[in-house]
Amino acid sequence: MPLFIINDDITNLKVDAIVNAANNSLLGGGGVDGCIHRAAGPDLLKECITLRGCETGDAKITKGYKLPAKYVIHTVGPIWRGGRKGEEELLKSCYNRCLQIAVENKCGSVAFPMISAGVYGYPKYEAMQVAKNTINSFLEKLEDDLDVYIVLFGRDISGFFEPEDGLNDFLNSRIPDLFDSIKMCSIAGMVGEATNRLFKTSSKESRKICSERMSDLGDILKQPDESFSSMVMRKIKESGLNEVSCYKAANVNKQIFSKIRSCAGEDETETYQPTKSTAMSFAIALKLPLDESKELLRKAGYAFSRSDKTDIIVEYCITNRIYDIFRVNEILFTYEQPVLGSKCH
Ligand code: ADP
Repeated sequence: MPLFIINDDITNLKVDAIVNAANNSLLGGGGVDGCIHRAAGPDLLKECITLRGCETGDAKITKGYKLPAKYVIHTVGPIWRGGRKGEEELLKSCYNRCLQIAVENKCGSVAFPMISAGVYGYPKYEAMQVAKNTINSFLEKLEDDLDVYIVLFGRDISGFFEPEDGLNDFLNSRIPDLFDSIKMCSIAGMVGEATNRLFKTSSKESRKICSERMSDLGDILKQPDESFSSMVMRKIKESGLNEVSCYKAANVNKQIFSKIRSCAGEDETETYQPTKSTAMSFAIALKLPLDESKELLRKAGYAFSRSDKTDIIVEYCITNRIYDIFRVNEILFTYEQPVLGSKCH
């Protein structure tokens, strides 16, 4: 774990391995294959010649040469012939072989283009389903941490995902809140200024109020609320979820989860401060209803903003019980928002 979707040119990525959607000859071609050979330089072709081609559904590894990636894993996807010629099995096999080879070569990160979804004609939506399901099942069984990226290229990304019909209305319904929050900010600015002036004229009084407040604060701090980490661990127990499936369902890595676990419980000596993205990821993974999701976020010091697109989309997903993190990320990605989860490397 984890799995991310990104929009980029795969040849720019500084990962351990990028995957090439090659042809059986492995001697270069158009599309992503052409881009990779151009960026890697002629030594890549020299090494490819020694490999003597590759079967459809299989994969072979070379060095990355001038690419920022250390390795290129060349795989040959099936040509789409209507869907009844074993295309799906062959495409699954491409992803599995590439992932196996990445692990055998101790890669911590690997990036895939949408194999077969270009010139080879595999329908985009179906190609994405095979990609995410195959990668997710591989990662579920994997002990080590591996960051996997699905890389979409260029502007046309819509065909890869199912549209989320209700979301536009939900976003539009939040737009008045966006204007309200702008108004509130300017009002808050004015109030702040007025308060400053008031305190300047009666500083003795203000110091008295401050010291009273500080002693109240001392009392509050003596009985702190349940922490974010403790709530996550309590919810895991209550839901009967297994810990590994939980952090995988949150699209976060093992290290982050170990921190959460070690900071939970009665004798908390350390505190763990998650990012807002991690806090939201756990609300999704734990399938919390909206009120409990808000509570979890609050414990980490956050709230769903009504003027931030990411927050509105995550709130929409929780309200509509969309708890598959990859689906949430697909939606965020479609709306050009950062996806949820945390990388290992
Ligand atoms: P195939 O022959 O397997 O269909 P293509 O290279 O034609 O392979 O296309 C596979 C996918 O790679 C397509 O979705 C295409 O848009 C994408 N692609 C093309 N160039 C790049 C690139 N530089 N980085 C990432 N993806 C790319």
